[in-house]
Amino acid sequence: MTESDIHRAAVLLEIGLAAVTILAVSFIVAPYGRHARPGFGPAIPQRLAWVLMESPASLVWLGIYAVGANATQAAPLAMMALWQLHYVQRTFVYPLRIKAGNKTTPLVVVVSAIVFNLLNAYVNARWVSHFGRYDSSWLTDPRFLVGALLMLGGFSLNIHADSVLARLRKPGETGYKIPRGGLYELVSCPNYLAEILEWCGWALLTWSLAGLSFALYTIANLAPRAISHHRWYREKFSDYPKERRALVPFVL
Ligand code: NDP
Repeated sequence: MTESDIHRAAVLLEIGLAAVTILAVSFIVAPYGRHARPGFGPAIPQRLAWVLMESPASLVWLGIYAVGANATQAAPLAMMALWQLHYVQRTFVYPLRIKAGNKTTPLVVVVSAIVFNLLNAYVNARWVSHFGRYDSSWLTDPRFLVGALLMLGGFSLNIHADSVLARLRKPGETGYKIPRGGLYELVSCPNYLAEILEWCGWALLTWSLAGLSFALYTIANLAPRAISHHRWYREKFSDYPKERRALVPFVL
């Protein structure tokens, strides 16, 4: 068995995990944030949890990328920059911006996320800098350009949507309010919609099964959670806007 076979198996495993995840999280809502509840064992502070969960997606990813045969070529370098733009923000900036109070995240959630991020780092970083074949003409290919636009657009929307949520709480508050303005007028979870757009952009710009596997996983993970958030909002707030959908404007 060559490493290329192992990589292909890892990609297929990630696609399989997406299928398992959409079923699992449709029945058992991941127990963090507003869906936190007893019965999931020990927990750690929420901010620390974010840094630990997402570090492999930035640091391990970079290590795997660096040892690839094509790591110094222009197109892989551009992809690396786009990936790291997202994950440096998510790992080291986002946890400082949330108003987490003394909220915690169960270790079982943290460990599951770390394991997934290690797999995903191998699948995507190894593809981009080693198994994928991208010469510099790929940088002007419409798939790269449209994918990069989608990814950067999703990234900006995601940061904006997460900032709106962070601003809802005054220092020290940990409760929930109805978010208003922008895409929040159309959907309950524009941050998830934006995250999905980002990774669909990544799938397009890498034009690979590796990229597609992460886009599928993100949809599998976040679409059911958006539906759970939406249901929760409607139960909690009697004045929750009726026309607002969960994730996709006018559709879902
Ligand atoms: P949520 O929208 O559930 O929460 C984001 C932050 O905003 C939390 O600090 C939350 O507090 C707070 N918040 C949410 N709604 C309200 C409200 N109505 N009033 C006041 N505060 C609120 O997002 P997640 O925590 O699930 O995810 C955070 C980011 O990580 C998102 O951008 C998401 O896209 C990304 N992500 C990506 C995944 C992937 O598979 N690629 C997986 C999971 C997340 P609290 O924690 O107290 O609820």
